[in-house]
Amino acid sequence: MNRSYKTKAIIIKQFEVGEADRIIIAFSRDFGLITLKARGVRKILAKLKGHLELLAYTQLEVHKGRSSLDTIIGAEAIDSFKKIRQNLRSTSRLYLVLEFLNKILPEGESHPQIFDCLLFLLKSLDKKESRKRLIVIITYFYLQALRGLGYYPHFRECIKCQGDLKRGSNLFDFYGAGTICRDCGRGENLTKISDRAVVFLRFLIENKRIFLPKIKISAKISAEAYALVEYYLETTIDSELKSKKFVKLID
Ligand SMILES: [Zn+2]
Repeated sequence: MNRSYKTKAIIIKQFEVGEADRIIIAFSRDFGLITLKARGVRKILAKLKGHLELLAYTQLEVHKGRSSLDTIIGAEAIDSFKKIRQNLRSTSRLYLVLEFLNKILPEGESHPQIFDCLLFLLKSLDKKESRKRLIVIITYFYLQALRGLGYYPHFRECIKCQGDLKRGSNLFDFYGAGTICRDCGRGENLTKISDRAVVFLRFLIENKRIFLPKIKISAKISAEAYALVEYYLETTIDSELKSKKFVKLID
């Protein structure tokens, strides 16, 4: 029986254990979220280290553990996104993405579409993008990830009465995961959402990424949409994302 396998993965978390071993949490295209061990044998780890950095897209060779964690025996970075690392604004936002994925992805369940979308996000951010574009692409990623994991937020009609949204004064219900019309939202403590943000978010969740470069949106609306999505992420994982503080510091 073959006791080892190869898989392409993005490194989303890592930390030291014991004397020198390292735990690597990777998002693999084939197997979803996987927790692996890199043994602290100095020679081996030194050789692997550069290929196991956070965010790196890496071809992993893994030895199956019988009762313990699988062990990384080889790693070769396909892309380590050097330009992203030089840009604090991109890296701080991406740490938030990684933290979110680590919390929301179920271990060992493959999500190739979310994986491809993450790779697209990394490749886009590795080019020089304006702050506004960065927000648009990340908002798109979050919406597609939420959609793939069954947390689809609705922006098309009122989730209570199923009626069409009328212009002006619509609301968003984070726990109901969708927009609410003025009449249904009366007296409830819900968040206001502008008409333009509704249209923008609807477009992002319903369309393929080939349309992304065509989007024209003001910084104000993309910021409103991003803030709403970020709060919705926290509702779905039921906790605050710690990296948010870091993003605020950099912005
Ligand atoms: Zn309604």
